[in-house]
Amino acid sequence: MTDRKTLNRRKFLGTTAGAVAGVLTLGRPSLSEEKERPQGKPGEPITRTLGRTGYKIPIVSMGVMNADNPELVRRAYEAGIRHFDTANVYQRGRNEEMVGRVLVEELKARDRVVIATKINIFPQQRNAPAAEIKDMHRKRLEESLRRLKTDYVDILYSHDVSDLAWLKNPAVVESLLEFKEQKKARFIGFSTHQNMNEVIKAAMEMKIHDVVLTSLNYSLYDYTEYLETLKKAAAQGLGLVAMKTQCQQAWYRESVPAEMRRFYEGPIIHSALLKWALRHEFITTAVPGFTTFEQLNADMPVAYNLEYTEEEKKFLEDRLVRQQMAAVCRACGQCQPTCPRGVDLPTILRAHMYAASYGNFYQARETLDGLESSRSIKACADCERCAARCVRGVNIARRLEELRILLA
Ligand code: SF4
Ligand code: SF4
Repeated sequence: MTDRKTLNRRKFLGTTAGAVAGVLTLGRPSLSEEKERPQGKPGEPITRTLGRTGYKIPIVSMGVMNADNPELVRRAYEAGIRHFDTANVYQRGRNEEMVGRVLVEELKARDRVVIATKINIFPQQRNAPAAEIKDMHRKRLEESLRRLKTDYVDILYSHDVSDLAWLKNPAVVESLLEFKEQKKARFIGFSTHQNMNEVIKAAMEMKIHDVVLTSLNYSLYDYTEYLETLKKAAAQGLGLVAMKTQCQQAWYRESVPAEMRRFYEGPIIHSALLKWALRHEFITTAVPGFTTFEQLNADMPVAYNLEYTEEEKKFLEDRLVRQQMAAVCRACGQCQPTCPRGVDLPTILRAHMYAASYGNFYQARETLDGLESSRSIKACADCERCAARCVRGVNIARRLEELRILLA
């Protein structure tokens, strides 16, 4: 276990002392246009302002979802993290309880941190009458505030918004605006893992959201339309928080030749992928979901220096790494029509990521349980041969099989 001294800021700077300044050109427009990155002042993390909220926060935050160790939250705070992202559904509310207990009760840091939580309404509940949807929102926010031991959250997200109908659902919109009016939520927004480009573009027209929590990782390096949308959204004042930044998954390693696997080992993957996301200046901060002190130690130096080390450059420039990125599901939904039963493949593949990549079986099950059974993996049970095809080469049948085994 890492001791506190390891989290000393000087040590972080020391860790990145070998960083090489300069422009990294990977031959893609999104990176070749990069300018030299700013570095934090000595001993201080780089901070950015979260859109119209005005919150100035370090570029590395904590996605608490996968963590169940209160000491890790405490260490994250001591290391300088000031934005903590949780949700009502994480660990059936215990995740929020931990955040409230450590940050509000024990550290008495309520006024020094930005707490973001989410109200999740499962897909199978989304067709309920408007009054019921509003009632669910009210009850869930009250429960979250009680667990977080506070009378307001800084950011309240409508969770898992992947279609325009839910984004614009009047009961959802009115609930969020009501909470803001009542000052139970200082700022409002939504999280999106799927169809991100479309929902963010629609949100820019709606002009009621303050913050968007969205997926951004290296597998999206050539999705220029999405990157452009994010840039425009930030220019319009939307605060952008990046999640799913470190798309490292065990199956990449398995599918590359043994001699290349060195690129997939060790903490450089973590830091290289996190830096790639944060070098997009339209992103204010990222919420890596570290679960160990070692991962916190690997992520935190990134808050002080976004320059790539030679090793990180080598990793990101490697042809095989880029090829393997094609095996990361972008949740684009283009495989949907290829499944004759209409199962919700992007959501099921997200559940695969929770289980296979994060080791968070609880969240994987919750994600699957939230789907109508006709759209869940249950619908695959008596399907003789998977006909679903990914436009990018994700082996869908294999992922479904892995998920079944992992959750058995
Ligand atoms: S499996 Fe492929 S087609 Fe389906 S959502 Fe993922 S990236 Fe898109
Ligand atoms: S196994 Fe494949 S084709 Fe069959 S229902 Fe499931 S996703 Fe669809």
